[in-house]
Amino acid sequence: MSTAVLHYTAAAVSDRGRKRASNEDAFGYSAEHGVYVVCDGMGGAAAGEIASSLAVDEVMRLLTQRAGTNPLPADAEQAVAAANQAIFSRAERSQKLSGMGTTLVVLLVEERRAWLLNVGDSRGYRLRNSHLEQITIDHSLVEEQIRLGRMSQSEAQRSPLRNVITRALGTQNVVTPDVFELEAEPGDLFLLCSDGLTRELSDPLIESLLLVGAPLDELCTRLVAAANKAGGHDNITSLLVRAEA
Ligand code: CA
Repeated sequence: MSTAVLHYTAAAVSDRGRKRASNEDAFGYSAEHGVYVVCDGMGGAAAGEIASSLAVDEVMRLLTQRAGTNPLPADAEQAVAAANQAIFSRAERSQKLSGMGTTLVVLLVEERRAWLLNVGDSRGYRLRNSHLEQITIDHSLVEEQIRLGRMSQSEAQRSPLRNVITRALGTQNVVTPDVFELEAEPGDLFLLCSDGLTRELSDPLIESLLLVGAPLDELCTRLVAAANKAGGHDNITSLLVRAEA
């Protein structure tokens, strides 16, 4: 394995899709600080947009102003907790915003080390050696049923309960993200996305779209265009991060 220093480049595209009146997804990143985040808000009307942008803003603010004394994933868990509190208390103060929440997926990178944190059904993938692997595990009712052996993948895709997520930011006082620790290698391509992408496109299709040699912003555009072509039933967000030696 090479020991070259890695650097990271990123691009993202978020799109309303073809059916929704507004875009409740949000994203943010700072290549300088090694922080990348995608959120998918829920709650109707303006609430979903407020929840997802509050989460992105809070996570970006806290992780770009770190003292640097704590490990990055520990600071990120605190930032997720702070984002949760910010949404939860905002929702408590306003009847219109009551019940709003958001998913969250965060990629952190520090030289060769990488972490993925998630809450809800926005996903983190890694493309390595031409193979796309989903790293995060959805916090959704159908995913739990699949894991318990009570439902197949194809049943899950057709289930009327496929939208039900079992963990979200802002709907409860405390939320715990899952944390996946990874080692990055030159050539790795990380994809963070909302379910508006993964509902429309299968993993093999996403993989084939990512294997086309193109700049990251063009790859993001192609993913979103393909999801729209497949129906665009929901908001679509795709954020790509490439590790290069
Ligand atoms: Ca969504």
